[in-house]
Amino acid sequence: MIKFQIRLILSLIILILVVLLAFILLVGEKEYPYKGIWWILTISLGIVLILIILLGIKIKTNYSKPIAAAASVAMELAKGNYWARTAVDEMDEMGILNSSINILARNLQEMVKAQEMQQDRLSVLIENIGAGLILIDSKGYINLINKGYKKIFNVDPNDYLNHLYYEVIEHQDVGKLIEEIFITEQNVSKQMLLPLSIERRYFDVYGVPIIGTNNVWKGVLLVFHDITDIKKLENMRKDFVANVSHELKTPVTSIKGFSETLLDGAMNDGKALKEFLTIILKESDRLQTLINDLLELSKIEKQDFKLNICKFDILQILKDVMTLLSNNASEKNIDLQLNCAEDHVVVEADLHRIKQVFINLIGNAISYTPKDGHVIVAVQETENSVQISVKDTGIGIEKHEIPRIFERFYRVDRDRSRESGGTGLGLAIVKHIVEAHQGNIRVKSELGKGSEFIIKLKKC
Ligand code: ADP
Repeated sequence: MIKFQIRLILSLIILILVVLLAFILLVGEKEYPYKGIWWILTISLGIVLILIILLGIKIKTNYSKPIAAAASVAMELAKGNYWARTAVDEMDEMGILNSSINILARNLQEMVKAQEMQQDRLSVLIENIGAGLILIDSKGYINLINKGYKKIFNVDPNDYLNHLYYEVIEHQDVGKLIEEIFITEQNVSKQMLLPLSIERRYFDVYGVPIIGTNNVWKGVLLVFHDITDIKKLENMRKDFVANVSHELKTPVTSIKGFSETLLDGAMNDGKALKEFLTIILKESDRLQTLINDLLELSKIEKQDFKLNICKFDILQILKDVMTLLSNNASEKNIDLQLNCAEDHVVVEADLHRIKQVFINLIGNAISYTPKDGHVIVAVQETENSVQISVKDTGIGIEKHEIPRIFERFYRVDRDRSRESGGTGLGLAIVKHIVEAHQGNIRVKSELGKGSEFIIKLKKC
């Protein structure tokens, strides 16, 4: 507006000057004798014009430019560029204004830096807290999950963030707990046993309602502490003695009973003597297998357990295991096959332990497959790993039992396992060995149709 007014005044003065000059030059001396006065007027007006222009230039350099510079810095600050600064030439009014803007920018920059640092600290803390964390907003949408949560539940953040919790959280117990907090607005702490892929893990779940200032309801925060190891240790101590005693009791009772019967006179009957001694031998074999498996498991579970790593052809090992178990398969007319596109697949692992894994898996596949079934061992090589699957057309395992079969002494059908000479420790040993190789084991199974145990090992 001011600029427009100045321009208007200048234009008026120039117009008057032009009119005056034209008047002086066009009108003759005779017609107008006071031309000198008009010259003086014109020159004075010219001087005024020059003075106004000079004054304008001074105002522009002294005020307009610094104001424009200050305005542009203010705009940059508004955009979030806190590095913007303006030049301060003199400490007049404009200098003070610009220097204040610079101080403001510096303070904003420091505040943002402090806030970023705080934010970084908070995210580092949230991400590395060592527990799973999930934040749900007041409408039930998931706002945040940390690294721990992703690892525990093996979830993709894209499937979780900004989704309603009850649509994506699979575990009913967790859903119920969140609901309880939403309803009661109270802190809740619960221990939960959650099935995760091939195992069940214990969690201490702590949930808090987040209530902001003025009692504004902001959502729910859940923290999952994995207490499986502590719980396992606690349960193990309780269960182990009971389980071992129970497992030992049957063969020992049997051996004792038959020996007593023999001593009571049955030994004089040749047929009974042979029959009972065979049972005693079978039961002592069972005892021996059980004790061997127990010793094996305790060896593998020890802290200083070391693998004897070497390079070998896994196909050869699988062929050896299949030869070893071929009698068991042919007794039930089970077709035992090995499928692989390659002639050799070299892995770097502990040969003895890997053999033990496949004796267990192929042995189980034969044991839990009825007559005339099929057991197919397939080996697939990928860029970084080797995948070996043992697939059978056997009795299958119910989905909810899958995480449990890797526990010590757990059997889906106790009598059937015993009948096949199982100890219930085989898969616990398998899991330990595979994990010691930094590999992983998965199970796909359908009741009545068959099971597939898939092992992934690192390639050498
Ligand atoms: P076991 O000595 O009883 O075979 P494992 O630890 O090897 O013990 O297996 C645990 C349980 O898992 C078995 O008792 C059985 O119920 C189940 N299982 C293992 N492998 C299979 C399979 N291939 N098909 C069906 N059930 C299986």
